[in-house]
Amino acid sequence: MSLSQLVRLTAAAGLGAAAMSVVHLPAPAQARVAEPAAACLTPRTNDAAAAARGGATGIDHRGISPAEQRAIAARTERSLAARRGSSLVGSSAVVARTVPVHVHVMRSASGRGDVTPWQINQQITVLNKDFASVGFSFNLISTSRYKNNVWHKDHQSSAYRSLTRKGGANALNIWLVNSRWLGIATFPWDYARRGAADGIRVDSASLPGGSLSYYNEGRTATHETGHWLGLFHTFQGGCTSLNDQVEDTPAQATPTAGCPASRNSCPLPGSDPYHNYMDYSWDSCYFGFTQGQGARMARMWTAYR
Ligand SMILES: [Zn+2]
Repeated sequence: MSLSQLVRLTAAAGLGAAAMSVVHLPAPAQARVAEPAAACLTPRTNDAAAAARGGATGIDHRGISPAEQRAIAARTERSLAARRGSSLVGSSAVVARTVPVHVHVMRSASGRGDVTPWQINQQITVLNKDFASVGFSFNLISTSRYKNNVWHKDHQSSAYRSLTRKGGANALNIWLVNSRWLGIATFPWDYARRGAADGIRVDSASLPGGSLSYYNEGRTATHETGHWLGLFHTFQGGCTSLNDQVEDTPAQATPTAGCPASRNSCPLPGSDPYHNYMDYSWDSCYFGFTQGQGARMARMWTAYR
């Protein structure tokens, strides 16, 4: 596996109450090797367990090899070909795609991890703002609140997702949890295989007004929704021509931390796209998706959602 398998990462010095005070640290070396494509580590711990977490299921937060990237691309093209004739396919115009959203607040038994309706509405506003240029909008349909210490920590996630998930393939389910990850997403091409687990899991403290310093403007959900719509990280594949299979995002060797004044980690053309939502920069450093990413998400929407 390559460096591409990591993670929008922060790491805290310890657990407990101090864990909400975030220190930005580089990723541990073993995590760089083992971590999956659609995963984002939270500041709770930086131990090796984080790297291996969930890897056995193969459903989400898993690494994607170049060979698998090519296989997914071929499968996507077959799916699109089968749908040819649909007005969405082959159109160069930006078509409005409205995504129904179901939010699940996974609180602890004592109510930790709760968020306000204002925060949820602000999160939907952020999604609508961030995806407007690429033709997606988001419509909040339902909010459900649970009290369960196990679910709150994002344990037994396959079970709780299948019990609580709402809507069909086009419905974005957002589970707000407090695990060691900032966020985790499933990819659209996995929906047919495991639709019951489909959606994104996001740290509740990353919503607008949340307590995660540098990551509390709602951009974790933007990043994870990008995965949910079929985007890889901008550093997927590192300094290779395949990279993230999006032509207008320059190749990037490794994730960006913080918000640098400049960065160019590959000899290939173009500086690192660290203002892109699919890098690991701070929320305040994010600027947008490219048109190439928008076109990829539109194809994925048609093929799988
Ligand atoms: Zn990610």
